Amino acid sequence: MPNFDYEAPTSLSSALELLGQPGENRPLAGGTDVIDQLKSNRRNADLVVDLKRIPELLNIESNGSGLHIGSAVSCTEVHNFTAGNGGFAALAEASELVGSVHIQNRASVGGNVCNAAPSADTIPSLLIHEAVAHTASASGEREIPLIDFFAGPGQTVLEKGEILKELVLPTPSANTASAYLRFIPRNEMDIAVAGVGSLIEVDPSTNVVTKARIALASVAPTPVRAYAAEEFLEGTKIDADAIEKTADLAVGSAVPITDVRGSAEYRKELIRVLTKRTLTICLERLA
Ligand SMILES: Cc1cc2nc3c(=O)[nH]c(=O)nc-3n(C[C@H](O)[C@H](O)[C@H](O)COP(=O)(O)OP(=O)(O)OC[C@H]3O[C@@H](n4cnc5c(N)ncnc54)[C@H](O)[C@@H]3O)c2cc1C
Repeated sequence: MPNFDYEAPTSLSSALELLGQPGENRPLAGGTDVIDQLKSNRRNADLVVDLKRIPELLNIESNGSGLHIGSAVSCTEVHNFTAGNGGFAALAEASELVGSVHIQNRASVGGNVCNAAPSADTIPSLLIHEAVAHTASASGEREIPLIDFFAGPGQTVLEKGEILKELVLPTPSANTASAYLRFIPRNEMDIAVAGVGSLIEVDPSTNVVTKARIALASVAPTPVRAYAAEEFLEGTKIDADAIEKTADLAVGSAVPITDVRGSAEYRKELIRVLTKRTLTICLERLA
């Protein structure tokens, strides 16, 4: 492990001051990505700033402006808060898939987002809810739609000294359901070969989809939305044929690579299957 200084401030202003200083200063939330990256020399740091003692980053609440998830809130807490809340089912499912129980107790959803892996499990669920990233730095605050947050594998648009403060997700309507599924070659502790989050809002009197959001993991340099599939499904009466056609269109938004986990063609087929399955689960949840 390379040498670096470590600070664990208890206020956001102190953290921002530390991170804004000259040098390679790196936030740490749960450390489940960053410690491994430092150990294996994939990232370096002069100073690591632990965010886990800053109360406002540990807050999760639902209010008139939606679901607010502080950037250091653990996957376990996000799961516990969202499980049983129909509209946020995809996020509850995704946060329970990250690593193992031990990892989920330590790892944050904010860290999953800021690590910006194309395979990150919580990101598709956040994208289908049109999450907004609220950021803070010593020079001010910004609101960035999450879809614009990723600049490439492991890269975000955050600037030096800027951190993710919280994620804000609008409250879905009563007629909304969501689901997240990923495929991994074994039961746990692996990264997604492909993942799909789907959200639909359906008019119960007509079965017409009034809103569709589909997001894909592990099939592009960043997590992506399947816009063509969403556009087709919105305004369409949902049934098996519509789901089939939507899944075909979702494949068109995947630009996967071939690697040890699977070929590009295999990943595209996974997107077709997982889109169908997540939309079918959404329908079952609305019944
Ligand atoms: C055994 C194991 C299994 C795993 N399984 C999965 C899995 O199934 N699915 C999955 O998606 N991931 C998995 N991961 C990866 C990791 O656990 C997740 O990405 C986790 O959510 C990261 O959260 P963290 O709080 O530990 O982030 P950290 O490691 O603390 O930080 C991750 C990155 O984000 C930066 N960062 C953290 N917080 C902020 C902030 N507020 N503002 C700006 N930058 C910030 C850090 O500097 C670092 O670059 C696994 C990891 C391990 C070790």
